Parts: sequence; structure tokens; C-alpha cells
Amino acid sequence: MPGKLLIAEDSRTQREVLRAHLEDVGYEVVAAADGEEAIEHIRRGGVDMLISDIVMPGMNGYELCRQAKQHDHRLPVVLLTSMTDPLDVVHGLQAGADNFLRKPYSFSHLNSRVEMMLHNRNLRDSGQTQMGLELFFLNQRFMITAERQQILDLLVSSFEDLVISNQQLRQQEAELAAARDELAQQLSEVHAQRERLATVLASVPQVMGVIDLDGVVTAASHALARFVGAQGPAELQGRQLREILRLRHHTGEEFAREERPGFMTMRTGEPADIGRAFDVLADRADGKSVPVLMQTAPVRDRAGRTSGVVVIAHELEALSLHDPLTHLPGHTAFAQRVDTAVEALTETNAVVGVVVVVLDRSSDLSDSLGKGRMDRLIASLADRLREALELPVVRQHVDGPSAGYLGGGEFAVVLPGLGDEAHGVLAADVLRRHMAGTYRIDDLDLTVTLTAGFSATAAAGTRSEELVPAAAAAAHLGTRWGGDRVESSSPGAVEGAADRLRAEADLRRGIEQGELQVYYQPIMSLENGLAGVEALVRWQHPERGFQSPADFIPLAEESGLVVPLGWEVLRKACEQMARWRRDLPGGGALTVSVNLSPRQLVQGDFVERVEAALAASGLSPHALSLEITEAGVVQDAEAATAQLHRLRAMGVGIAVDDFGTGYSSLLQLRTLPVDTLKVDRQFVDGLMTDPDDATIVSASVSLALALRLRVVAEGVESAEQAEELRRLGCDFGQGFLWSRPLPPGEFEQWWLTARGS
Ligand code: C2E
Ligand code: CA
Ligand code: CA
Repeated sequence: MPGKLLIAEDSRTQREVLRAHLEDVGYEVVAAADGEEAIEHIRRGGVDMLISDIVMPGMNGYELCRQAKQHDHRLPVVLLTSMTDPLDVVHGLQAGADNFLRKPYSFSHLNSRVEMMLHNRNLRDSGQTQMGLELFFLNQRFMITAERQQILDLLVSSFEDLVISNQQLRQQEAELAAARDELAQQLSEVHAQRERLATVLASVPQVMGVIDLDGVVTAASHALARFVGAQGPAELQGRQLREILRLRHHTGEEFAREERPGFMTMRTGEPADIGRAFDVLADRADGKSVPVLMQTAPVRDRAGRTSGVVVIAHELEALSLHDPLTHLPGHTAFAQRVDTAVEALTETNAVVGVVVVVLDRSSDLSDSLGKGRMDRLIASLADRLREALELPVVRQHVDGPSAGYLGGGEFAVVLPGLGDEAHGVLAADVLRRHMAGTYRIDDLDLTVTLTAGFSATAAAGTRSEELVPAAAAAAHLGTRWGGDRVESSSPGAVEGAADRLRAEADLRRGIEQGELQVYYQPIMSLENGLAGVEALVRWQHPERGFQSPADFIPLAEESGLVVPLGWEVLRKACEQMARWRRDLPGGGALTVSVNLSPRQLVQGDFVERVEAALAASGLSPHALSLEITEAGVVQDAEAATAQLHRLRAMGVGIAVDDFGTGYSSLLQLRTLPVDTLKVDRQFVDGLMTDPDDATIVSASVSLALALRLRVVAEGVESAEQAEELRRLGCDFGQGFLWSRPLPPGEFEQWWLTARGS
């Protein structure tokens, strides 16, 4: 027999959900948002039952219950409780409540409870025995008067609750048991796999071991066991590889621990020294020290994390190792290195290049010099090649180049870790130019030129048998076309390199001719108006017009031109700010922020250069802030940190730019002398629309507050964003909302207008 139910619930959502459900079942429902409204409904009459939340603003559920019973003591009252406090029930009973519903409730549970209450109301009308109860509960005494039926109802409901929670518990138990079984199953599969793997690894013909990140052997080959004089692989497991396999430099010196192949990987979990080949001496069981070529590769777990390192040693006695004339690896050893580099190709380490350098007019030379002198020339060329490999221009683009001598006047270099082919062509050009020039052989002064051939691959399967001959063929083709050049087996690469060189030369010229301009964008205190400006570089190109830094900063970074560019911007910005603080009405407290490239940060005289810019302009160090990116600091963390501390001690501000986009190594943030975080524009952009972005912004702001840093939000374009940022506790904002970056004159106009208004 459906009746009319009254719901009192302050949460609108919960109220409407409950109403909709009860109406679906067939009850007539009236709802009230608070106690007063509910009493009003009861006063009007016709209500068969009250369901009320306990926690409500104003009149709470107990009070509502008490007043409802005063109006109509027959009206059944059910209180909604989360049952976190057992006293809820006692207080409810004191207030005269008839029953409780535990939140969250299931609808079927709710249905049966409501039905039971309505049904029993009729019973209650017939058996109205009042019972007085004295209740001791939690060391307190409570007096409750209730009807017998009311107590019975409560007992039945509590029992029902108990049954339900018991069922839930049992179900959770069953789920847990199932999960446990699955885990056990997986574990035994892992064990089985490991066994199989160990068997396979043991039979690898090379001297090979797998170690975990602590350097402990987890698998080894029979060849390794034989090499070190052990019975078998099992005997090596669980021991430190470095104690089993003794390695020394090929000069005979002991290895420092951190130099050992694979050590960097073990320490950082990143495949830091992977893919490189190490020439070392290893102590063999027979007491001899033999030359080996060590290679390492990361072992990754299912999640892609490095969990160990595979170490392979190739005994080099069989390979043609050091060419006696040049002391460079010979043909076979070099080919091995090329293959190693190609195997280590990854997405970021995108291209492996091979360079073959040959002497121009080499057969004429060897005819006129004779064998002895020709050999001495080759040996001297090898020395220059070794030198060239250490040049910064080469190191900058190549991740561990290594050279070989192929015989017959052909030198070869493998270039792992190239960004693209054009970089390889540039490096090849540097190498051959460095080897060219005048050599004194006995009493002869000889001037030579050389030609380089280049080949490259980005495909993991490519073999040295293809790459080396292709580069050699390109080199010989080049000599036939007049020599003194680079030829590539893929012609596009040479053009790409030429374009890049041209663009670089253009930028260098632009910097020298003073075509760079500095624009200024206001940084606003969200409470107090203009706080400072950020200096942003622009390039007024004589032909191509206005160039945005997004277009030329990457080239500047890559070529190193960002260093002179950056110092020029700093110099101009300091001068400009010194002038504004002096002359601009109300400008005395302004600060200027200048972007620093990672390349500037690692310069040894970095602090002196900043000091010089301050001294030349007379700007107070407190008026300067330097913006660095997290990635920039990571490059040479210790040196950079020390330098930044010195600047910070002088009063110069240090801001982390683009916060949230880079490494976000929060740990490092604590060791860096940073005083400001700049939340990257991309997150501010999505602040009002993308919950993830909003979370990142608010987390960055809280982090900054916790570390007592200032926060600047970049790229603020709307008043809503600014309002939201203020609400989150962000101090500063920068963006088109206030102004785009402006040339100095326009900035002054803006400032005067902004101040006036
Ligand atoms: P950044 O340091 O993150 O500079 C902020 C960039 O956001 C500037 O671009 C600025 O014009 C832009 N921006 C500011 N407010 C808004 C906004 O409300 N909406 C949008 N969509 N963009 C806004 P810009 O000037 O093109 O500079 C780009 C980047 O070039 C800079 O990013 C900085 O990394 C680099 N850069 C600029 N000048 C220098 C410099 O002198 N040295 C170095 N090393 N890098 C510089
Ligand atoms: Ca910046
Ligand atoms: Ca930024």
C-alpha cells in the first residue's frame, strides 16, 4: 500500500536521486531541503513517513525528528547515517527515531526498509506498549523511551544490516582469494621463464653475464664460467660480477668503479653507457690478461624500466684489433663497432653515420714519398684524427664517436647518436678539415687535403658490410671530382648540411650586425599591478623581416650561437631596466627577467658574465631574475647548481621556466637556489577547460607555496583565468591579457596608460 513519503536532505543531488527512486517504486514523494521546510510539510498533513539526513545546516536530523514527533508521534522517522559514530543510533533513539538507514544504501535495501516501516506502523497502532530503556553505552548512560514495536523494528534492521555487511565481506574475501591465486600462478610462470632464460643464456657462445642493478649476476654463459675458471654458470649466480670478471683499461690501469661498462646504467636505471663499446683487458683463468671488447645492453621489465644489464665480452685476439701503424682498431674491430652502434639505435638516438676519410692524390703521394715516409704520414694523420674526435663541434652532435683504420690510407669513424644525417655530414667535414694541412715528414713539409665519404642509417637491421663500403665509395667518388670535400651516399644530407650552415652563418651575421632586438612583456602581480618585465628576443632580418624566437632559438641552441645571443640580450635588458628604474615614473622597483640557455649555464665564467652585465649597466642584482629550464640544469647539475648559488647569494633571482613540462625533478628544485616558478603556458591555457591542466596548475601553486617560492603563471589570456589563478593563490601572471611583448618605446606608452587608468 503505497503512501506519501517526506524526504529531508540538504544535498540537492542526493535528494533528487532518492526522490526519483521512490517515485519509480510508486510512492508519492515530497522533498524538503531543510528541517523548517520539512516541518511545514508535516503540518500540512498527509505524510506517512519521514526520511531525513542527520547532518543538515540549521536544524539537524535529530531536532527535526523531535519536532516531527511532537506534531505527530505516530509518524515513522527513518534517519540516514553513515554509521561512522555508533552514538548516531543512540542520539537518534533519544530523539524518537524509528529506524536507520546506513549510507551508502542500495536501492533494494532501501525499498525493503521503507516497506517494512510502513507495514509495521499498522502493527504498532495495535500494540502500543511503551518501554523505558536504560542503556549503558560507551561508558555513558542513556534513557530511552520507545514503543515495543519500534525496538523490534530496530533489532530486525540491525540484523539485516549485519547480514548485508557479512555478504559484502564474504564477496571481498572471495575476490582476494582469486587475486592471490592469480598472483601465485604468475609467480610460478615467472620462475619457469627465468629457468628457461637461464638455460638459453648459459649456452650463448660469448663470454656473457646478466647483472641486476646492484651488479649481482643473475645469469651467466658457460663461456663466462670457463673464462673465469668456474665450474659452470650456477656457481657465478648471486655474486658481484666485478669480483668475478676483473677488468682493466687497455693500458693496464685499474678501472675506477664508476668507469666500468654498465655502471652508469646500474646507477641511474637509464641506459646511459649502453651501446658503447669498451676496449678493455680482462683477466682470464689461465692468468693471462687478454684484450676484450665489452658491450652492454639494458634488460627491461614489462613496464619498460631497466632492471639489469647484459654484459658481453668479445675476445679480441681473433679480431684484427689494433692496427700497428695507426694504433687504431683495424677493419674487423671497426666493423664490430659499427654493428654495435646500429644495434643501439633507438628513437631518440636516431641515426648512425659512418665516415671514411681518404687522402687526396694518395697514389701520387705514395709514389713520391716511398713506403717509410708514407707510413709516417699515415701515423700522423691518425693522431690528428684522434684529436679531431675530441673537438667540441664533433662531441656536440655525436654521442661517443670512434675511429678505425681500414688500411690503404682509408680512415673510418663511426658516429652514433646523430640527430640527423646533416649533422653527420657536418661532423665529417670537421674531421677531414682538421686532418688537412701541413705535415713535417722527416725533412719534408707536405700539405695535404682529404675527402670524406659519408653513409648513414636509421634502420636497426643495417650491417657494417653495407655502411662502410658505401662511405668508402662516396669518398673515392669525391676524390675523383677534385677532392677536398664531403660526399654522401645519400645526396639530400649534403644539401641539408649546406642549408643549415647557411642559416647559421646568417644568424651569426645578424647577431654581429646588431639585428637582434629585445622586447619586453609585463609580469603582473595579481594583487598590485606591474611587477616587472620579461625580456624576449626578436630578430629583424633585413630580407625576411621580423623573426620570432620560436623559429631561430632552436638553431641558435644547436649551433651554440645562443651563447653570444643570450649575453647580448642580457646586456641590453640590464641597460634598459637600469634606465627605466631611473627615469620611468613609478618604475623604481621594476625587475627584469632574462632567459638563459642551458649552454650559457655550463660556461665556466657564467657568474662573471652576469656580474659584468650588472656592473656595466649599474643595475642592482636584486632587479635581475634569470629564467632557466629544468632540462637546462639537468645537463651538468653540479656545476650549474654551484654557479646559481653564487648568483642567488648576490641577490639575483632564479626562476624555473616552463615548469611542469620538463623533468619536473622536484627533488632538484629543493637543491636549486630557485625563488620563482613559472607555470608553463600550456597548462594555463587549459585551466578553465581541462581538469588535468587545472590540477597541474593548482598543484604547482601549492608546491610553490610549500617551498616558499613565487609563482608566475604564463600565457594568461582571459580575465577568468586571472581570477581563477588568484583564487588558487598564484602571485603573478604574464600574458596577452595585460600585454604582448613590446619594444621599449611601446612598453613605456603602455605603462603610462596603464598607470593613468
Ligand atoms: P618563454 O620564455 O616561455 O617565453 C614566453 C613566450 O610566451 C613568449 O614567446 C611570449 O611572447 C609568449 N606569450 C606570452 N604571453 C602569452 C599569451 O598570453 N599567450 C600566448 N599564446 N603566448 C604568450 P616568444 O617571445 O615567442 O618566445 C618563445 C621562447 O623563445 C621563449 O619562451 C624562450 O624559451 C625563448 N626565448 C626568447 N627570448 C630568448 C632569449 O633571449 N634567450 C633564450 N635563451 N631564449 C629566449
Ligand atoms: Ca621565459
Ligand atoms: Ca615559459
